[in-house]
Amino acid sequence: MATVKSQLKSEAGRLCLDFANTLDWHASDHPIEKLTTYADLVAWAHKIGLLNEPAARQLSDRAAQHPRIAQAALEKARTLREAIYAIFVAVAHGETPEMADIESVNTTLAEMLNRSRLVQGEGGFVWDWGGAEDDFDQVLWWVVQSATEVMTSDDLQRVGQCADDRGCGWLFYDTSKNRTRRWCDMRGCGNRAKARRHYAKVTSDE
Ligand SMILES: [Zn+2]
Repeated sequence: MATVKSQLKSEAGRLCLDFANTLDWHASDHPIEKLTTYADLVAWAHKIGLLNEPAARQLSDRAAQHPRIAQAALEKARTLREAIYAIFVAVAHGETPEMADIESVNTTLAEMLNRSRLVQGEGGFVWDWGGAEDDFDQVLWWVVQSATEVMTSDDLQRVGQCADDRGCGWLFYDTSKNRTRRWCDMRGCGNRAKARRHYAKVTSDE
């Protein structure tokens, strides 16, 4: 598996943030789980461009043959996701992340580094996890690589969270010049807030 990151179809702007967003309405008390089975995780990885069609099929078939191991891998993925989410929410709001969440990332990072190697790609070198095609945790290694890249670079200052007060919770990488982005834009949170302000103004003018 050699993935070219420029081919990723990230909506949030960084892979690790897309992963954190796989729990919908993440900041609310009624979140919606998008990763209900290991197959959902594979489907997500395929959709975003981490796994090509044959790799996704191979992993799904293997998960169907080993449901208990796949389920454990799914739970591990969700644990990592919540740690990543908590870290970036803290950062986005200028707070200090919890040590336990950083340790959770460190655990997967150690596994990832243990499997990492450089291979020759097209026009350069790319990360690869040799012989890991069957490993249920492989998607997490890409995620943790992305998370550590963001956390150890200036990218960190550009992580933001949708300001929607109903608990949208969506994380994004802010590419605006003065880092003024406030909304996810994925489900019209900004428009809804605008409409609410407009309505409040109209009714207070009456
Ligand atoms: Zn939103």
